[in-house]
Parts: sequence; C-alpha cells; structure tokens
Amino acid sequence: MALIDRPLPKVRGAYAENAPLKDLVWYRAGGAADILFRPVDVEDLCAFMASKPADLLVTMIGVGSNMLIRDGGIAGVVIRLPAAFGKVDRIGDTRIRAGAAALDAAVARAAADAGIGGLEFLRGIPGTIGGALRMNAGCYGREMKDIFIEARAVNGKGQLVTLTPADMAFRYRHSAPEGLIYIDAVFEGVADAPDAIRARMESLVAQREAAQPIRSKTGGSTFTNPPGHKAWQLIDEAGCRGLAHGAAQVSEKHCNFLINNGDATAADIEALGEEVRARVKAKSGVQLEWEIKRLGRPQ
Ligand SMILES: Cc1cc2nc3c(=O)[nH]c(=O)nc-3n(C[C@H](O)[C@H](O)[C@H](O)COP(=O)(O)OP(=O)(O)OC[C@H]3O[C@@H](n4cnc5c(N)ncnc54)[C@H](O)[C@@H]3O)c2cc1C
Repeated sequence: MALIDRPLPKVRGAYAENAPLKDLVWYRAGGAADILFRPVDVEDLCAFMASKPADLLVTMIGVGSNMLIRDGGIAGVVIRLPAAFGKVDRIGDTRIRAGAAALDAAVARAAADAGIGGLEFLRGIPGTIGGALRMNAGCYGREMKDIFIEARAVNGKGQLVTLTPADMAFRYRHSAPEGLIYIDAVFEGVADAPDAIRARMESLVAQREAAQPIRSKTGGSTFTNPPGHKAWQLIDEAGCRGLAHGAAQVSEKHCNFLINNGDATAADIEALGEEVRARVKAKSGVQLEWEIKRLGRPQ
C-alpha cells in the first residue's frame, strides 16, 4: 500500500518508499521515512517544493549528527541533499561559498588550503553546512554567526530566497528561519598562512579526541548548556555518568553525550535522556533542554 495517498510531483531525482534512515544518522537507530527524496539539483528541489501537496510534511536531514529519529519513522517526505549540493569554492581572498551538503570538515580544509583562517572550528563538527546553519553550530568559542555572510534557501513555495545575518537571527545553537531548505552559504574568514591554519585545526581535533566519544554512535551534545551552567557538569553531579537504559548509555568520557552501545532503539535513547533530565531537575532544580532534534513517530 502506498504510504502517501496523493501523487507526488514528477521529479528527476529519486523517491524511495519506506526508506530506512537508521544508517543515515549517527545514532544508528530509528525508523524509516515514508518517502525519501534525493533531488538531482536546485531546479529539481524547487520544482518539488512548488508542486507538492500543500499539507505534505517535509523534513530535512543532513548527516544526522544532531538528530534522533524515533522508531516509528518519519511521516511524509524526508529530503537528503546528495553530493551535487556539496561544492566548495573560494570567492576572492577571504570568502568561501559552500553547498549545504558539504561536510563542515571539508569546508574547513578547503578554507585552510585557500589561506582563509577563522573557519578552523568547522573541522571538528561532524555535520553538513545545512545542519550547521540550522543549529548555529560552533565550538571552542566560535560559531556560524561569526563567519556568516549570506545563505540561499528554497522556501515552501519552491522559490529561491537569500538570507542575511539579520534574517538568520542566530543565537546559541539556534537560527530563526523555519521551513526553509538551505542550499548554500557564503562565509568570511581572514587571510592567513595555510600551515598556521592547519596547525590550529589539528590542535582542535586533538582536544576533541581527548574529550569526546567521537568514534561512538552518538548525537553529540544532548542538551544545551543552561544559562550559567554546563550541562555535562549538572549531569555528572546528578550521578548520571555511565547511566544506562538498554543499550543506550550516558558516555563515561563526556556525560552530555548519549551513546548507542549496540542495538539501542531510539526509544531507549530518548528514555535515557528523559531520565537524565529528571535526575538533574531533582538534584539541581535546573531543567535541561534537548539540543538534539527528536523527530518522527514513536513505535
Ligand atoms: C561526535 C559529535 C560531536 C559534535 N560536536 C559538535 C560541536 O562541537 N558543536 C556543535 O554545534 N555541534 C556538534 N555536534 C552536533 C552536530 O554535528 C551539529 O549540530 C551539526 O551542525 C548537525 O549537522 P547535520 O548535517 O548532521 O544535521 P542533522 O543532524 O541531519 O540535522 C540537524 C537539523 O538541521 C536541519 N537541516 C539539516 N540540513 C538542512 C538543510 N539543508 N536545510 C535546512 N535544514 C537542514 C535538520 O532538519 C535538523 O533540524 C556534534 C555531533 C556529534 C555526533
């Protein structure tokens, strides 16, 4: 039986029905998309958005490094941009244009090769530029808002729009626009020697390797840092380091990371996160808020 009861627009890209998403996200858990759509190019994406049924649910995923997809999967159409949306180009002496499907680390490397400093922090964030724009991703004191010049996106009517810094209204792990599909963005750095940039990048990578379980099946920081607090510290003080639920566990190495030690379900991971929130609230009175986007239907 078709999962969507109305015809979908004719596209040049591929639709896959009941498409497993588990292997597309870092947690390696969760259900299937009713439909997974991979547009061929921007025109294909615009055509889809312009002629899809108005009430069709559309969900974007990057590489799922900040996402927990529930076990019942995602209703409607999930869009994942293919490599064709991942071009990275230098513009002039200090700017880079990067496609939304480009990996942050690839953009950092391209900037270093081009002698453009200030984008090193991207080297350690395991997502795409699209996900980084949505999340105002950042680390070690820098975030997207510090390098952002403009982004292009497709809106719900299939039109291309350009976003300024004011439109993005970046704040901690958040940007304002809703319902847009980013396709690329321009970033600004400062001219610097490639070797000096690479050395700073390597030092950031080493710090991260030492402090975070980056080789595990995880979603990165689970909760945002509440004003005036570090989420990991509150979790530690509430006695949650190493706490487990099924095969889901609070990382021993960095306790704001939840990890899937094997075959944890998304329900295990979410239940563990809620248990941590309850224990932290009871211990310190602080309510942790999920940074990870939890999407889809429970089983
Ligand atoms: C080991 C590890 C370490 C991490 N360290 C950091 C860190 O230091 N700093 C940090 O900020 N984050 C960190 N993260 C979290 C994560 O990498 C970032 O939030 C990243 O920006 C998410 O990108 P993504 O492509 O994986 O997005 P996804 O997780 O796939 O999606 C995240 C959100 O972005 C939206 N989205 C994705 N692509 C698009 C698009 N093209 N258009 C519109 N919306 C889109 C999705 O709908 C969703 O709402 C870490 C994660 C892991 C697993």
